[in-house]
Amino acid sequence: MLAELRGLNEECGVFGIWGHPNPAAMTYYGLHALQHRGQEGAGIIVTDGKYLRAVKGEGLVNDVFNNGKLEKLEGHAAVGHVRYATSGGSGIENVQPLLFNSTTGGLAIAHNGNIVNATRLKRNLEQQGSIFQTTSDTEVLAHLLKKSNLASFEDRAKQALRLLDGAFAVVIMTEHAMYVAQDSQGMRPLSLGLLDGAWVVASETSAFDLIGAELVRSIDPGELLIINEDGCRSERYVEKKDRAICTMEYVYFSRPDSDIDGINIHMARKRLGKQLAKELSIDADVVTGVPDSSISAAIGFSEATGIPYELGLIKNRYVGRTFIQPSQDLRERGVKMKLSPVRQVVNGKRVVMVDDSIVRGTTSRRIVKMLKDAGATEVHVVISSPPLKNPCFYGIDISSDSELIAANNTIDEMCELIGADSLTFLSVEGMVEAIGRSDAEKNCGHCLACFTGEYPTSIYADTKLPHEKELVR
Ligand code: SF4
Repeated sequence: MLAELRGLNEECGVFGIWGHPNPAAMTYYGLHALQHRGQEGAGIIVTDGKYLRAVKGEGLVNDVFNNGKLEKLEGHAAVGHVRYATSGGSGIENVQPLLFNSTTGGLAIAHNGNIVNATRLKRNLEQQGSIFQTTSDTEVLAHLLKKSNLASFEDRAKQALRLLDGAFAVVIMTEHAMYVAQDSQGMRPLSLGLLDGAWVVASETSAFDLIGAELVRSIDPGELLIINEDGCRSERYVEKKDRAICTMEYVYFSRPDSDIDGINIHMARKRLGKQLAKELSIDADVVTGVPDSSISAAIGFSEATGIPYELGLIKNRYVGRTFIQPSQDLRERGVKMKLSPVRQVVNGKRVVMVDDSIVRGTTSRRIVKMLKDAGATEVHVVISSPPLKNPCFYGIDISSDSELIAANNTIDEMCELIGADSLTFLSVEGMVEAIGRSDAEKNCGHCLACFTGEYPTSIYADTKLPHEKELVR
């Protein structure tokens, strides 16, 4: 669905390339493929072996970079980032990759996820004299790296990473090497690829496809890759724990053409739709999906039930970004600006409207009304995930639980609130089975916390939700 309209936002996307004659251009293209993961700011930092040079700015990748800016970023390696505003607050100082300079050299860091013990680490570091320039939890890692008195950067990186708790897929670059790390449970996706002998890492494999790189593998939980002129070496900085990949990456966030651990997102979403068809029986004339992320599940549901799939809703692609001031009133108008019903498809029909999730419920209510105003005689809402009842502490900006409709209402009450003729959610077990990760039977392959309330890491009294971080200095 339309994330910006409903309070469910991915936090970031990271990209890195080492050993390429034109790393800035490759990173620029890679960030385009990750743009859906963050639209508020973008940055690229390049190394030529002597200096780190940065171009960063607020806005979309295309707003931040042009030919002139990219041409100045000469070197052989680069790290890039796209971000969503509330991951540490808005403002250019929080746009990543973060760049730090000292007499011993430069340091660039790009991070996707959320460090749940960042507040306490920050407090300790401040007591030891650190002064923070941003509200981003990522800066904590830079201070930990600098504070360490171990001799090699690799050892300092391992020591610093071991102190972090939470979700992090991180790319660190100095003038001489790139370090790529995944948290001990691999909560956020991160993959390794190869492009004409250059090593590439990205939050999603769609970035590899766009630049013509081939996928090598996912980065393992607890793994630290060291990439430099000697090649790419794998180390482990901590023992890996049970995998807890974010389930919402499969359900909603990642692009349909990306794969996570060998599972294609479009195919996984189709299976979610098929699983929904197993879990409910419904009589209807037409199935439609809320664009873009729900279309794959709608196709799967249609294939399994035999109810024809139709484009009942069209996304208006070239409208302004309404979420910059997400007031209730703007959200109201924003839905109409962003989605239109196809009257000829839904008029006089019993419609199954497939969506991937419901956050506040206000957007669902408006879409149901839109379909009914266009002549639908019945609108049955089916959701290809379980009810979202809990906030996320791992880098996804889900509205606080007071705003989550499923945290405060029964399914019947929700159905009434959104004005649907019926409302069905996928079961947790059905979702895990349909995604099809090989270790799914132990339930350890996924983070399910926003559905079940069982968080895979410690959550501290001072762990911040993404939108709370703006208030912390
Ligand atoms: S709580 Fe939900 S959104 Fe957050 S990492 Fe876990 S599955 Fe993903």
